[in-house]
Amino acid sequence: MNDKPKLTTTAGSPWPNNQDSLSAGERGPLLIQDYQLIEKLAHQNRERIPERTVHAKGWGAHGKLVITEDISQYTLAKCLQKGAETPMIARFSTVAGEAGAADHERDVRGFSLKFYTEDGNWDMVGNNTPVFFVRDPYKFPDFIHTQKRHPKTNMRSPTAMWDFWSLSPEAMHQVTILMSDRGLPQSPMHMNGYGSHTFSFWNEKGERYWVKFHFKTQQGHDFFTNEEAEKVVGKTREGYQERLFNAIEDGKYPRWKFQIQIMPETDAEKTDYNPFDLTKVWPHDEYPPIDVGYFELNRNAENYFAEIENAAFSPSNIVPGISWSPDKMLQARIFSYADAHRHRLGTHYEQIPVNRPKCPVHHYHKDGEMNVYGGIATGNPNAYYEPNSFNGPVEVREAQEPPLRISGDAARYDHRKYDDYKQPRALYADVMDDAERDRLHQNMGGALVGVPTVIVERWFEHLRQVHPDYEAGVRKEWEAASRDAGYDPNGLPITGDTPHEANDQSPQQPTIEAAE
Ligand code: NDP
Repeated sequence: MNDKPKLTTTAGSPWPNNQDSLSAGERGPLLIQDYQLIEKLAHQNRERIPERTVHAKGWGAHGKLVITEDISQYTLAKCLQKGAETPMIARFSTVAGEAGAADHERDVRGFSLKFYTEDGNWDMVGNNTPVFFVRDPYKFPDFIHTQKRHPKTNMRSPTAMWDFWSLSPEAMHQVTILMSDRGLPQSPMHMNGYGSHTFSFWNEKGERYWVKFHFKTQQGHDFFTNEEAEKVVGKTREGYQERLFNAIEDGKYPRWKFQIQIMPETDAEKTDYNPFDLTKVWPHDEYPPIDVGYFELNRNAENYFAEIENAAFSPSNIVPGISWSPDKMLQARIFSYADAHRHRLGTHYEQIPVNRPKCPVHHYHKDGEMNVYGGIATGNPNAYYEPNSFNGPVEVREAQEPPLRISGDAARYDHRKYDDYKQPRALYADVMDDAERDRLHQNMGGALVGVPTVIVERWFEHLRQVHPDYEAGVRKEWEAASRDAGYDPNGLPITGDTPHEANDQSPQQPTIEAAE
């Protein structure tokens, strides 16, 4: 006898032989009666669930959110009161690459946090950048298509990316950050997280404030240049997983300072930018960051699939004291993120342990995939609809947020009328130093190699409107990198294939010009 656990079937019956299949004679065929063999093969075929369309490659860990400051004047959220400590899980990710992509690719990083509060789960589904490429959800699927594979070549398409961006000036801010040092952090521990959208708080008096969430890395903004990243990727494609996992195993728990920006409700009508525009920040001098506390990651998952791949974050998850704003992208994500999880994990994905709230859950949703715990737990099976006379769960009126004050006609407002150059200009001219600007020029100039000239020139016109030095710097680097790659800086291929993709070949160009 030994003290190892007993091997069983998935139904718990002891299993005698996991080495030899059941055959009709030693040299004969297998019997279908060997159900455990069939089950083993069937499980192998079902080990993958649908990959996230975006943010497929991820890394995460468990930790805690600690509130050190008093912000009760803004919010009554229990998890945000001074002294509160809330268990949490974080998942970081790249956007475009598939689940097997290399970690050290230049890309925006997802920065998703789930706080298991006593009032239910609060999810913060942000990025490592304070802004995004688009501000109207109509553009969201189109943008994502440009980041994924070309339908014919099945390769990533710089042509598509730069074509879309050059036709979408609101992308300028985010593209500038993406091509800057912050576009290639050394690890998930070396980047900030931003809620990016504008959310809202409400307090005991029923007053609403608009709020931006910031999570500042305490490990520093260490980054790689493209050349350094290429060397890292040549050695390992899992660099983020290794660094985050090993830091936590070694007890070097990463931390992020938690800050907010607060805007009084009526200010939203006064700012010269739309405070609900996801392509804009709130300048710090107008709305200074306020310290709230910190979060720390201190425990690795025991099972990556169960706890990180199965983790489902959605901006639809808020708790009393925290709510949304009229940000159009946020409004769309409230639907689309939860819907992605219903598709990916099953209708009742919030019953999966990593997603399950740590407080009692009572609702009247009924059957469907993943309904393993049932909805209501009243002890009375007759209370399966509402209203009922059988002591079923009742609504919590005091959890009602104050009314959202909205004015204006229902219409399709032109979102292109805003200035898309001022904030990237502040970043380029006032925040970055010369060395950062040089690296930005190099990164962007290199990324534009092989892209048809008509698109490149359209992009340069946007750069010029941000700052003439921005255009001149990127143009110089693009010309040099194009020559090095065997291209005429006109963008027309001189020899061979483009360094990026087959669809950058000249036959596509007439179509683009004709569309102009
Ligand atoms: P500030 O000078 O007060 O803030 C600039 C902020 O820029 C810094 O606090 C830092 O944000 C961030 N930053 C510093 N270096 C880089 C970099 N290389 N790439 C990206 N971000 C960097 O000015 P404003 O608040 O008026 O903002 C000026 C510009 O700074 C904005 O237009 C925006 O592009 C950028 N920015 C602003 C943020 C904001 O919330 N106001 C946040 C991030 C960037 P952090 O402290 O978050 O690290």
